[in-house]
Amino acid sequence: MTSSGHSRVNREQAIGNRNHMSKLRLILGDQLSMSIATLSDIDKQADRVLMVEVNEEATYVRHHQQKLVLVLSAMRHFADELKKDGVQVDYVRMDSDTNTGSFSGEIKRALQRHPCDQLVVTEPGEWRVREMMQSWQKDLDIPVEIRDDNRFLCSLADFAQWAEGRKSLRMEYFYRTMRRKTGWLMDGDKPVGGQWNYDSQNRKSLPRGMTYPGRLRFETDGITRDVIQLVKTHFDDHFGDIGPFAWATTREDAQRALDHFISECLPDFGDYQDAMKSGENFLFHALLSPYMNIGLLDPREVCEAALQAFEDERAPLAAVEGFVRQVIGWREYIRGFYWLQMPGYERSNFLAAKRPLPDFFWTAETDMNCLRQTIKTTRRHAYAHHIQRLMITGNFALLTSLAPTEVEEWYLQVYVDAFEWVELPNTHGMALFADGGLLASKPYAASGAYINRMSDYCSDCRFSPGKKLGEGACPFNYLYWNFLISKEKQLRSNPRMGLAYRNLFNKSKAEIDAIVQQSEQFLETLSGGDVKP
Ligand SMILES: Cc1cc2nc3c(=O)[nH]c(=O)nc-3n(C[C@H](O)[C@H](O)[C@H](O)COP(=O)(O)OP(=O)(O)OC[C@H]3O[C@@H](n4cnc5c(N)ncnc54)[C@H](O)[C@@H]3O)c2cc1C
Ligand code: SF4
Repeated sequence: MTSSGHSRVNREQAIGNRNHMSKLRLILGDQLSMSIATLSDIDKQADRVLMVEVNEEATYVRHHQQKLVLVLSAMRHFADELKKDGVQVDYVRMDSDTNTGSFSGEIKRALQRHPCDQLVVTEPGEWRVREMMQSWQKDLDIPVEIRDDNRFLCSLADFAQWAEGRKSLRMEYFYRTMRRKTGWLMDGDKPVGGQWNYDSQNRKSLPRGMTYPGRLRFETDGITRDVIQLVKTHFDDHFGDIGPFAWATTREDAQRALDHFISECLPDFGDYQDAMKSGENFLFHALLSPYMNIGLLDPREVCEAALQAFEDERAPLAAVEGFVRQVIGWREYIRGFYWLQMPGYERSNFLAAKRPLPDFFWTAETDMNCLRQTIKTTRRHAYAHHIQRLMITGNFALLTSLAPTEVEEWYLQVYVDAFEWVELPNTHGMALFADGGLLASKPYAASGAYINRMSDYCSDCRFSPGKKLGEGACPFNYLYWNFLISKEKQLRSNPRMGLAYRNLFNKSKAEIDAIVQQSEQFLETLSGGDVKP
């Protein structure tokens, strides 16, 4: 008899000694929700919840230290909540002597402790883990039920149906489908206010003298302090400052963060969502993505709170529509898109980009102030807002042809909200255009003029955004044109790039030569691979 045959007989004998069918329910670190599908039919007497802190997941990319603290502390708090609710929880800590360091190893050990008839899980947020789950039935010799993730408003099957037969998968059309499906901001079949999208009103720069609400900070309790110590001991070579750690690690505190956003930030969220300011890292942004991504908040309740503020006339339509679009539009679309394109999505490299990631992505040591500010806030808070991610670091990576795999790994490491289902399409598709336009209709490429318009970074920079070439010229200016020149083969036929190419072709040969020469000189100064966080 094979060893798996033995284990099946042992388990059947053990099960035979018990009266009920029992299930082992595995909750992952980004599934910390009482209403997660894994728990929906739990029998508190017969079943057991398994939660494991595994080294493999903490290190397969070297996550920012604050992300490790957030996830591990939130897991420990969630396990306590479950126990208070009468659920039998088997919780394996990272520093337990017997921890094997992998999901498979820990499930195997748990099944020896508690023989069960079935393993129940909810689909994960990453293809790699999904494949692992699919192997468990055979490898661990137990029936495995993988349930749909009910935290999303659009199931993967519904997204695939929406995408079926479409020539292009543009978010805007998906968003309208979601508005109709939820009935949110709808007046019958028409959008409230007559427009689907109020983005044109949402691109203001920050007025002088404006005050900002600031971030709601959460005190660390004993559990979080223990985890901080653990991360300091085992992962202090990971990128990022561990403190000041101010993220919420319980559902209760995440709800307080939501209340703070709705009352203090949402009214101005729309107007200034593209703006950037030195020393003001959060402006009117929600800071809610980590909580939605790990299950502490449900995207429905987040949107409903924003809709209620509109009903109560505490926030204008443009702000509420803009916010709801981010959540039921972008967030849901990105997730459906990821699963539709995987596996293999990450392998495309439409623009043949291959330059190594410059060391200053880790050190922030660069004279370009916009990049310095964005990387500094990333290191300090494990956070940068969307425009910093897209139009500063993302734009630079695009214009300088940084290798997609290196850039993607960076984004997955450095943000507190980074999980592959959401990080990969945003980086590979939106920021790098590496998929050749499956996600975005054109590359988000911009010169220094855009950054100067949307931020105050340039006033404190050694370069000048108004200068196109020569000593002191903003590198984004010549890199932008150099990008168009060097990627002409791939981009010129894109209808949305027509105007950019017409402007390029209006330039004299001498100017084009000077752009290429200065860009090459700049690119030669980028060193990469020497610094590891
Ligand atoms: C290169 C790049 C990488 C990114 N990586 C991640 C990531 O790893 N994890 C992540 O959650 N978001 C990612 N985003 C999307 C977006 O930048 C973050 O969701 C947002 O900055 C989170 O901060 P916030 O909660 O303050 O968001 P706000 O600006 O206040 O927006 C509100 C909410 O809308 C949702 N949202 C907005 N835009 C997007 C989007 N493009 N994709 C998905 N959700 C969106 C988020 O849930 C967010 O909490 C990335 C964007 C880019 C350009
Ligand atoms: S001048 Fe150029 S490099 Fe400097 S902050 Fe402005 S956009 Fe960035």
